[in-house]
Amino acid sequence: MRNITITIDVEEDCPPMLSSTRGMEEGLPKLLDLFKEEGIRATFFVTGTMAERYPNLICRIPEDGHELGCHGYTHARFDQMTEEEARFALKQAGKTLRKFEKKLVSFRAPNLQFPKSYLKLLEKEGFLYDSSLAMYKPPFFKDKSESRIVRIPATITSSFLRLPPEFFLPLIKLSKAPVIFVHPWELVDMSNMPIRLDCKFNTGEKALKNLKVLIRTLKAENYLFLTLQERATLEKYKESWDSFELY
Ligand SMILES: [Zn+2]
Repeated sequence: MRNITITIDVEEDCPPMLSSTRGMEEGLPKLLDLFKEEGIRATFFVTGTMAERYPNLICRIPEDGHELGCHGYTHARFDQMTEEEARFALKQAGKTLRKFEKKLVSFRAPNLQFPKSYLKLLEKEGFLYDSSLAMYKPPFFKDKSESRIVRIPATITSSFLRLPPEFFLPLIKLSKAPVIFVHPWELVDMSNMPIRLDCKFNTGEKALKNLKVLIRTLKAENYLFLTLQERATLEKYKESWDSFELY
């Protein structure tokens, strides 16, 4: 059976270009309502600062049965931090987010940029899974040898999901188990904001409608909607089953 993992990067509006939080106030409740209506679960990678500012909203994530993951403390890029700064940011984020979810095991770095040499820091903070790689961002190496962290890359970039469904649906179906991501601010009309065109086109109602089409199409095709944690567990199981078959 095919599966899909929907992930949400919960942050300020289109960082670092804006610092407003309309996505938090207007977009995130819409996403939570949509997933509830459709009866599916997702993984929300939340920054520590958004969790501190919007505790009631963040509480809804585990309450609704979704996975709460970490998206750094602020939205600062880890590839621009020293090792000490990265360690501190992960510790601060972990401390804040564990108030909402004790089992905090999944991580995605802001801008999907995370130095390989910092994977050991994730391990130390108790994380098991990292989704900071992207299939569409070369160079892409699926290298498990450096640490015990399991790396599960994102399949396509979020702006693709704002193209007409006849473009993005075939692309998603090319992957056996796609990992897609959206941002709460994409569900708010950003067309008049001073941000890049690829960030603002088709934001608002169109983005929400596309997400609905995606979910309903894949549901009709019997896809399983898995959180990152569930999907990683399934992969581990498959790997051990494959090696069992070999010997
Ligand atoms: Zn982000």
